[in-house]
Amino acid sequence: MNDPARPPLLAAVEAGGTKFVLAVGPAVDQITARHVIPTRMPAETLAEASAWFASQGAISAIGIASFGPVELGTGSSRWGWITNTPKPGWTDCDLAGHFGRALAAPVGFDTDVNGAALAEYRLGAGRGASSLAYITVGTGLGGGLILESQLVHGAAHPEIGHLLPRRPASDLAFPGTCPHHGDCMEGLICGPAIIARWGKPLSDLPADHPGHDIIADYLAQLCHSLIATTAVEIMVLGGGVMKTQGLLERVRARTAALGNGYFPGTARHRIVAPALGEMSGIHGALMLASDALQGA
Ligand code: ZN
Repeated sequence: MNDPARPPLLAAVEAGGTKFVLAVGPAVDQITARHVIPTRMPAETLAEASAWFASQGAISAIGIASFGPVELGTGSSRWGWITNTPKPGWTDCDLAGHFGRALAAPVGFDTDVNGAALAEYRLGAGRGASSLAYITVGTGLGGGLILESQLVHGAAHPEIGHLLPRRPASDLAFPGTCPHHGDCMEGLICGPAIIARWGKPLSDLPADHPGHDIIADYLAQLCHSLIATTAVEIMVLGGGVMKTQGLLERVRARTAALGNGYFPGTARHRIVAPALGEMSGIHGALMLASDALQGA
């Protein structure tokens, strides 16, 4: 399908634990083809993904926004690897190396949530701001962070989902589901933690169920911690749990109550839904590709 008259395309991979979303497009805001494959063992998943890209034409660069933990140290020989994931078969998988070799193209690589943060920052809810946090609450809880217009990596990448909250008295009996910390944020408010303690997804609980205020309180503590440590302007809350009717409004109200008017930037902190909906991650991966091309 290589057509010499057609300019090369940017390629994007949103690598998740259950599916890989693949896309190509001529620019970061234009997806011309998209394909979803199930995540199986690395060899077959990566071979299927590479074959699809090969069928799309010439690729100028590829961006990968991946589940983790991942290695992002540019001086590391393991840059672009998934490292110690609990997902069977994927520990020490050289994701960036595979796609770089398969497509003979420069590779941009970051976490799935940093990718989504980048897309919301440049194309979505964060336009005009200089700082943004993207939090997804679903089967897990992850967060990506942009400060002073730069993705935050630090020694590796933030793990916002593993902040330790203050437990309300009405929720002390539940031990939490995080295999590492028990009752960290992820262990208390991800979808499986909600089902473990109340038997149903949050969206299926009656409107007067105490779970709504409990989950909103934890999320407000998370927002409060982000504001207190980073003064971030825009907090984008996405993922399946955030689709619960009224939850975003509860989180906003509770965050304001916790802050008690103290923070100097109070009027500039905003808690919003993703403007790009489910597309933040794949557009973010296209941006990682574009950035890699410009840096190549
Ligand atoms: Zn944890």
